[in-house]
Amino acid sequence: MSFFKKIASVLSPKGAEEGDVLWVYVCCDKCGEKIKTRIDLRHDPTPNYSDEGRVTDYVLRKVLIGSQRCFEPIEVKLTFDPQRRVISREITGGQFISKEEYEGVE
Ligand SMILES: [Zn+2]
Repeated sequence: MSFFKKIASVLSPKGAEEGDVLWVYVCCDKCGEKIKTRIDLRHDPTPNYSDEGRVTDYVLRKVLIGSQRCFEPIEVKLTFDPQRRVISREITGGQFISKEEYEGVE
């Protein structure tokens, strides 16, 4: 029965917050390991304020370390506008990949 499943997903807070979650997919330069990380758009980015006290943008830095091969740190820096949309992204030690590339078979 799918009825119970439906109720369960409505009650689950995880499903309700999905719009505030950003998944970032990267690929390690050294060994090619694919890593994904979950970003909570409401809590993870750090706001920058203008002199008037308004948010000008948000910045998020995150270091990702693969668990399977080389343990090389990959540093990701994302910048968001005040609406928390990504406006720029930088990465060292790896490359950004798409969700499809992450899930694709090697
Ligand atoms: Zn690696």
